[in-house]
Amino acid sequence: MDRNEGNCEEKQSFFGSKENQRAGSSLKEIKGKRLWKKVKYQLVEYNSLPGYLKDNEYILGYYRSEWPLRQILLSVFTIHNETLNVWTHLIGFFLFLSLTIYTAMMVPKMPDLHRLREELKTSLTSMDLRSLSNWHIVELLSNCLPERLSHSNHTDACVLLSMKEDVANIIAPLMVRPITRWPFFAFLGGAMFCLLSSSTCHLLSCHSERLSYIMLRLDYAGIAALISTSFYPPVYYSFMCYPVLCSLYIGFITLLGLATILASLLPVFQTPEYRSFRAALFFGMGVSGIAPVLHKLILFWHQPEALHTTGYEILMGTLYGIGALVYAKRVPERWRPGKFDIAGHSHQLFHILVVAAAYTHYRAGLIYLQWRDVQGC
Ligand SMILES: [Zn+2]
Repeated sequence: MDRNEGNCEEKQSFFGSKENQRAGSSLKEIKGKRLWKKVKYQLVEYNSLPGYLKDNEYILGYYRSEWPLRQILLSVFTIHNETLNVWTHLIGFFLFLSLTIYTAMMVPKMPDLHRLREELKTSLTSMDLRSLSNWHIVELLSNCLPERLSHSNHTDACVLLSMKEDVANIIAPLMVRPITRWPFFAFLGGAMFCLLSSSTCHLLSCHSERLSYIMLRLDYAGIAALISTSFYPPVYYSFMCYPVLCSLYIGFITLLGLATILASLLPVFQTPEYRSFRAALFFGMGVSGIAPVLHKLILFWHQPEALHTTGYEILMGTLYGIGALVYAKRVPERWRPGKFDIAGHSHQLFHILVVAAAYTHYRAGLIYLQWRDVQGC
């Protein structure tokens, strides 16, 4: 029994040691694989990048280079020199998604319905009732009113009074219908598209030259969409009482936006000779916003809302301007190359300024909506 037990133990220890050996070797294999992956997917320096990934010589390290898509997708949660570029615009996207939901659920601020009803009743009472019979809106309304009110030749004063009240109750809500929201939602959609495509571009571009090419086009299209749709709320709500002007401005910026997207998609415009042409297109789109803003000030200089929104528009222009300057000059990394690889380099500052500028524009949009909801044309 004892011997058997002893044998058993011996066997166990024998097999155990074999199993241990096997487990040990597979552990070594796993460790080896992990080490190989680490070596293979480690962050690299600027000098070892392929040509198409070399963009900013002042950012010296922490680059991902030609990783498989799985590793790239997981790298959204790891630290490298694009982490903050991805997250600044991803957070911006979620911010604008929340603002869109909030705006869609927001109850429009309307004029006092009760006061408007009373005013209408007073004005209807002061009207000559015989002249009312010639007023075709009464005719139209009498078709919708209850049976007893449709006898307009009835001279009973009580019925006439009740009719005036009913007419006031029907007209008042029609007069305070909220202004259409589509230009505002078009801007919010443009902002979300721009922020999400930028974030995706920063995450995926390092996979391959082909994907980098596609992502960059998507990024350009996002910028053009954001600039174009940013025009919609100020132009629509400023000139909604001047339909021709409104259509001209909106048509112009939409065409310019589409031309910019096309220019970004055509391979011929990707050559270095067209770099300044592409920059000029984006710059031209932004600067052309000055025209409708000045026009709005000339038409509505006495309106506090016009001045208030212009204040926001100047702030927005300043933020975009500083952003473009930081982006073009590549500060602060040019002053201390390698010191801002992970955090604080120009592209991250540019991203934050873009989100801040778009948020400023959102605030201006709310003032436009409030202005037109209350005052109409
Ligand atoms: Zn970017």
